[in-house]
Amino acid sequence: MTATMIDGKALAEKVRAEVAEEVAAFGEPVCLATVLVGDDPPSHIYVGRKHEASAEAGIDSRDHRFPEATEESEILDLLEELNADDAVDGILVQLPLPAHMDEPKVTRSVDPAKDVDGFHPLNAGLLSLGEPLHVPATPLGVMRMLAEYGVELKGANAVVIGRSEIVGKPMAMLLLAEHATVTICHSRTVDLARHTREADVLVAGVGRPGLVTPDMVKPGATVVDVGVTRTESGIRGDVDKAVAEVAGLMTPVPGGVGPMTIAMLLSNTLRAARYRRLGVAAAGS
Ligand code: NAP
Repeated sequence: MTATMIDGKALAEKVRAEVAEEVAAFGEPVCLATVLVGDDPPSHIYVGRKHEASAEAGIDSRDHRFPEATEESEILDLLEELNADDAVDGILVQLPLPAHMDEPKVTRSVDPAKDVDGFHPLNAGLLSLGEPLHVPATPLGVMRMLAEYGVELKGANAVVIGRSEIVGKPMAMLLLAEHATVTICHSRTVDLARHTREADVLVAGVGRPGLVTPDMVKPGATVVDVGVTRTESGIRGDVDKAVAEVAGLMTPVPGGVGPMTIAMLLSNTLRAARYRRLGVAAAGS
């Protein structure tokens, strides 16, 4: 078997075009503010892309960048201002923050209604209650991919490798909400392959290149690779390329989940604008 490859780039373009259309129809300015502290080169690239994508979708953006040695209190003051600023719909604090900052404290200082990353405990709690407001963009993008490619989730065995707040846990909650039977694996899981071989839908969000090998995959399964690791030979995912000979449907790295993350961030920003101005019912699902 050779797996069908999911085209994340094409789907992301489709989502971005949809958002642009909806932003135009919204009739009021929509604004995303980003906060970046330090010199991490990939973070500067990611934030730059988020601003470009916002502009293309007709979303205004504000770009707040600070040197590495900035005091945490300065960032907390800025977040307070952005929270109070009625013109700002979404706020994103680019991670990682420098080591001297208390990352949870900073991300928890974002108004949950403007938390387009979905990292605030209130948003994590709402997701686990099955009443999501803002959901982290990466797992949301995976769900959109699965829906677009017609992957049946009801009653399916879904296995998520990774239990982070950003990828693994929200991914598991979203799959559960679609009535999959969900198993979450992590670094202490005994005999990972025993679990992954049962998966109709396997999502890897680990950051270990080639962790998932063909013998760990059920023939015909859908395999989603969230992992991104920069190596000397380029960007690599968690899933060995040879898995394509066993899986039925699979995401490539690059060109799979990555492009969807920015597209879903734009969608979350529009959702935040709708929610703040029109209320929860208008925010859409
Ligand atoms: P993270 O916070 O480091 O979490 C990694 C998870 O993998 C942890 O839960 C860890 O288990 C688990 N793990 C580590 N080694 C394992 C092993 N040998 N077997 C099974 N599980 C193992 O990372 P993250 O933020 O969730 O990101 C995960 C990956 O996704 C990274 O490569 C990241 O770059 C990528 N990512 C991509 C996008 C995108 O847009 N494409 C967005 C976000 C993240 P423990 O909890 O036990 O430590």
